[in-house]
Amino acid sequence: MTGFVIVGTDTDAGKTALSILLLTAFPDQFAYWKPVETGDSDTEKVRRLVPNAAVFDPLARFAEPVAPVLAARREGRPMPGVDEILAAIPSTDRSLLIETFGGPLSPLTEDTLQLELIRAFKMQVLLAASSAVGAVGRVLAAERALEDVKPFGVVLLGPEDPFAMEQIQRHRPGLPVIPWAMPSGEWRPDSVAAAAAGLRDRLAIRAPLRGLRVAANRGVIWHPYTPLQDADEPLPVVSTEREFLQLADGRRIIDGISSWWTILHGHREPAIMQAIRDATRRLDHVLFAGATHPDAERLAGQLLGAMPWPAGGRVFYSDNGSTAVEVALKMAYQFWCHRGEPRRTLFNGFEHGYHGDTFGAMSVSRDPVFFGRFEPLLFRALQVPVDADALDEALAKHAGEVAAVIIEPLVQGAGGMRMHSARELSDIATVCTRHDVLFIADEVMTGFGRTGSLFAFEQAGIAPDLVCLAKGITGGVLPLAATLVSPRVVEQFDSPDRTKTFFHGHSFTANPIACAAAVANWRLLSEGNWKRDVARIETFWRTHLAKLGNVRIKGLIAAIELDVPGGYLAEAGAIMKWAALECGVLLRPLGNVLYAMPPLCTSEQSLERIAEAMISAVEIATRTSGAV
Ligand code: PMP
Repeated sequence: MTGFVIVGTDTDAGKTALSILLLTAFPDQFAYWKPVETGDSDTEKVRRLVPNAAVFDPLARFAEPVAPVLAARREGRPMPGVDEILAAIPSTDRSLLIETFGGPLSPLTEDTLQLELIRAFKMQVLLAASSAVGAVGRVLAAERALEDVKPFGVVLLGPEDPFAMEQIQRHRPGLPVIPWAMPSGEWRPDSVAAAAAGLRDRLAIRAPLRGLRVAANRGVIWHPYTPLQDADEPLPVVSTEREFLQLADGRRIIDGISSWWTILHGHREPAIMQAIRDATRRLDHVLFAGATHPDAERLAGQLLGAMPWPAGGRVFYSDNGSTAVEVALKMAYQFWCHRGEPRRTLFNGFEHGYHGDTFGAMSVSRDPVFFGRFEPLLFRALQVPVDADALDEALAKHAGEVAAVIIEPLVQGAGGMRMHSARELSDIATVCTRHDVLFIADEVMTGFGRTGSLFAFEQAGIAPDLVCLAKGITGGVLPLAATLVSPRVVEQFDSPDRTKTFFHGHSFTANPIACAAAVANWRLLSEGNWKRDVARIETFWRTHLAKLGNVRIKGLIAAIELDVPGGYLAEAGAIMKWAALECGVLLRPLGNVLYAMPPLCTSEQSLERIAEAMISAVEIATRTSGAV
């Protein structure tokens, strides 16, 4: 059963009022159940004020308005215990709002307290408190009693009391406190509806409500980068088109981040979808060791043709960005082994770099939040700021030990959309040449036009030794990756000595359907319209996001970093994501960094929506950070 339990600090805290407002504000999401009630029926009150709500009958009703256990004693009837109440939980496909009675330490039966029942529900707990005098003490006492169930928020019902909010937050930092004014006068369905409608627009309630929504997300799938508890319910996507995701609940939202930087032109780009259909009439999957197929050959030629290398380069296919990086790292090390320098076991990554989730990629990324846990298992790698002098110093200190330097050219993506100049990049490449270490350009995110040139490294006029590609290579439609290898590196493997083989490969290396999609993508890119779209979107960001102040812009990417604590784990990130979704735009902030990177086809109207969503998200997160 999914749902959550509304617990009052004490009697008359406003539990029923809160239930009524929630049922009204989120009409199809919840069903209501109060297992035990005494005196005037709260269940009937809910039915009267929220006529369309799903409301279940109580398990036990007692007429006298006193503690249930006392009412039961006086009526000579048994009071249901924990097991009976658990067994009676109604089944519903909605999230269940379970309203308790009294406070957490009110007696449930002759010898148990309600706290035992609250624990046994194993659901999220929302604490209701009246903002009347004494709110601080009541909330802190109830919260202490509920210590082991950890309520995810307190709703202070009644006139706003900044002192109470401040005090509660001071003594229980991290506990969201949501002020909620109640309709004045006699409650009627219309006054309740008005109070609930205003509430939907107040972010103070939205962040905790994310918590309520998750309740329904107890599925069989383990989603990437998603905690198993307290995560937002996944968006139920049923179809896609251009920059839009169609959700099962009728919403059509804008994919402001190109589905994790994959979708390039737009969703279901017709030429690419047609190429896939055509390919499936010829082929499915074939192994790639000792076999080949036309689209893989064609694509390799096209990619190499775009590299600043003389003839003799090669393309090593795989199927995701991390693996493209893994291949580059392994090749770089083996390159030095073949050159008689097996002591070059070090790699140099950059602070805030991100190259994927496999072990080699984690080792050169070293992001403390993502990968800190695996530190004991990672291989040694240097980490320097994105600065040619710092790199120079590190390479001098470790002369003869470093195999390769790896960088995301111009924009470090997952590390917070941090940008550096083409000049810095070219200086870094020069330092690599001077120290004779290989230079790996990880273009998994930046490749295929996203920064304004086909590949970001082009803007620095440099020639990397290895280039990693994935994501946009198929227009983002199917998984495919490639590590492009310069003639200099290939040469060291070009030998009759079988021990110099690169022993690496994946089942789905160069999947033919993915290659067909990639060839179609390349054809589209060759037509050149992407340049116009990148310029259009970049100009839009420059003119429409200026009011946000400190915005970083490069090609399709616009990012703003909020000055709030918490880095990648900042609560501001969750707030901004939620706020953008309320505007119909999917954004996934990197903690305190909000960014957009929409597909090339995104219309002016959609860009306007994205800009509005970003402005609103920043405004709300700035206002409420630390307050929710
Ligand atoms: N390199 C960079 C620069 C990336 O941004 C990513 C993924 N976001 C990767 C590598 C890893 O790619 P994948 O998720 O396809 O493994």
